[in-house]
Amino acid sequence: MWKPIIITITLMCSAFDAYITSRQRAVLSRPNPPPVLATELSQDAFSKSQAYGRAKVSFSLWNTAYSQVLNVLFVIYDVLPRLWGIAGAMTVHAPARFSGEKSQSVVFLLVMLLAQHLLDLFPAWYSTFRLEAAFGFNKQTLGLWITDMLKSNLLVCVLLPPVVAGFLAIMQQAGDRFLFYVWLFIAVLQAFLITVYPIFILPLFNKLTPLENGPLKDKIEALAKSRNFPLDELLVIDGSKRSSHSNAYFSGLPWKKHIVLFDTLIEQSTQDEIVAVLAHELGHWELGHTIRLFLIAQVSCTCTHTHIYIYLANFALQAQIMFILVPYWLFFTTASMYRAFGFVDERPPIVGLVLFFDLLLPLQMVMKVTINRITRMYEFDADAFANRLGYAPDLARALIRLQIKNLSSMDVDRWYAVCNYSHPHLTERLKSLGWKPNKEDTPVVPAAEKEADTAIATGKDEHGKR
Ligand SMILES: [Zn+2]
Repeated sequence: MWKPIIITITLMCSAFDAYITSRQRAVLSRPNPPPVLATELSQDAFSKSQAYGRAKVSFSLWNTAYSQVLNVLFVIYDVLPRLWGIAGAMTVHAPARFSGEKSQSVVFLLVMLLAQHLLDLFPAWYSTFRLEAAFGFNKQTLGLWITDMLKSNLLVCVLLPPVVAGFLAIMQQAGDRFLFYVWLFIAVLQAFLITVYPIFILPLFNKLTPLENGPLKDKIEALAKSRNFPLDELLVIDGSKRSSHSNAYFSGLPWKKHIVLFDTLIEQSTQDEIVAVLAHELGHWELGHTIRLFLIAQVSCTCTHTHIYIYLANFALQAQIMFILVPYWLFFTTASMYRAFGFVDERPPIVGLVLFFDLLLPLQMVMKVTINRITRMYEFDADAFANRLGYAPDLARALIRLQIKNLSSMDVDRWYAVCNYSHPHLTERLKSLGWKPNKEDTPVVPAAEKEADTAIATGKDEHGKR
């Protein structure tokens, strides 16, 4: 009876998701921009952003449907116990050191991730080389795309075994104190990843160079100094290698921070706008958002391409929360659950974790909505901070410019935003920044520039992380 429950839950969740997405599709079919942006946008730029938004939404609907069909087939055909068996067969003749449950779990996860990866290959290729390319955003060559993929898979192979081994060791030895030790383990893992990410992982994918001397550097340094921000290095990242998506973020340890600017941001914005964006980021730091949302901030601001990091960090984020660990513990101890999925004699904890995450879908949705709500609140706070420092007009102009260059949706359905947006929509931010559309003013992006197809987009999300 567990099987139908899991299938029903997943299907209900995707149906809900599809409904919300279709609401957004309706917004993306509107003929005119919202009044606050009317003077900033040419009709042509608006229509193009609507078309791009619709293309992305349709793709996401198809992609969800595809993965749901796969999910259901996985459950019906007992793919997990089969994979577990395969992993067992692969490790049974291995030397004693490499056999046993830990090795079997590692091989199981690697085989499962590989299978998932292969099944996702076509949608991923389509998104980059068809959808993004059709709107002139993709900057990746097929060669770079493949090398990125190989590198991230290699990273998974290196990082996964010790993590799985650690998790299983805790499961075996911690007994009743499992919750506490797993939480501790995840917290340490998190701190470790955040420390090694900029030093070892990021350079595998991108090149960082110090920002050259000049007025931009002076302005940023002056801003950092005025807020006592422990700025160690000011770097530029070659984001243009993959897409023209623009961004800026902080990284590093609490006492030694780096500011990283995307080369695309420098190319697309004026210096004052860049400084205003950093004033907003500094707001996150000074108001303690980065510490309070330690992980979320790191994930949302630093990751634009490395799947592995997102995967691990997401896992950590999900699992860190006790109300997920508690039900997992209950699940793990429920023999009938395992039996229903074809595990009669054994209850491998790793398989339980995989199954459990399926069952958790509605809970994950609730969590996402909650976290979105918190991050949106923080975004408003950081905007207000930049406003207090006198950067409101430049920040507003920067946001408008990036929105247009990104062809991000100019309008949003309320419920779609609640479920999916970690940042408030541009129109809301402009309102809270006190931006007044002024017909006499020149638009932020002049008409000639609007036509130039400079835009952006990684396809990852459209409400840029700023
Ligand atoms: Zn922000």
